[in-house]
Amino acid sequence: MSRRTLLAGLGAGLGMSLVGLAGPAARAFAATLKDARWCNPALGYFPSGGHYGAPRGSYPHAGQDITNPVGTAVYAAAAGTVVRRGTDVLTGRTGYGLVIAHGNGQYTYYGHLNVFRVALNATVAAGQRIADMGATGNVTGPHLHFETHSGGLGSTVDPVAFMAARGVDLGGGWSRIDPGANGETVKVIQYLMKQHGYALETDGYYGPVSSDAVKRFQASRGLVADGQVGPATWPKLVYTLRQGSSGSHVRALQVALNKRSAGLVVDGAFGSVTYTAVRNFQSVNRLLVDGEAGPVTWEALVG
Ligand SMILES: [Zn+2]
Repeated sequence: MSRRTLLAGLGAGLGMSLVGLAGPAARAFAATLKDARWCNPALGYFPSGGHYGAPRGSYPHAGQDITNPVGTAVYAAAAGTVVRRGTDVLTGRTGYGLVIAHGNGQYTYYGHLNVFRVALNATVAAGQRIADMGATGNVTGPHLHFETHSGGLGSTVDPVAFMAARGVDLGGGWSRIDPGANGETVKVIQYLMKQHGYALETDGYYGPVSSDAVKRFQASRGLVADGQVGPATWPKLVYTLRQGSSGSHVRALQVALNKRSAGLVVDGAFGSVTYTAVRNFQSVNRLLVDGEAGPVTWEALVG
């Protein structure tokens, strides 16, 4: 399935929840909404019938399925602790699965995995690679079965709406980061803004200084100057980078790659190590593997 089809499908799925979040009311929840502390657990497309609540024998489907080949990277959707890891770790779920506890009664579950990349009881960061997509358990083909639990383990909610409320388009798409946010993706924004000529601290806090600068940047590019770094702003903010590039934009890229477990030195020099990291990221996310960080790679990195 093409990326265009994927995005069209996501748009349809997200329509209702996004309407509910639009406008100033959403700002009241800035501490938890669109705050850069959540990110996409995996890239892929939504298979027909793989939505939350779809009929599945005696129980409705408890998660959202995201399809891509075996070996596709699976990332922690937010920071937390691996509280379950193994086979059939939740009632009714089959195959290799992981549960991460995020605090405040919030949990995520990752099912049908192929390979675990974290230990039981491990502390994980948002965006850290935790597993590979697989086809273990009762499946018709490889995919990630992703669940979000809110209000305690077992209280599942629709993952598409849950993640959209946190600025993430499940399955792919640019993230939405609001003023007041914290996290590594904010550092990415700050480094990119520095490259655009705005003197900002790269402290990972999207406070008034950073968001005012982004508003000026948005106004200068003919965008709505709301301070939200989302699908309209990201494409204007990122640079296409390749081996030999150097500067704050490369630091932004290195921070974004490190969020996905690359382990790079953030030195602003796009050398062979960064090149290899870009290629690896593209490969495990089923993107075109060319070692160049263009808009599609950036979208996957910061989503
Ligand atoms: Zn499923």
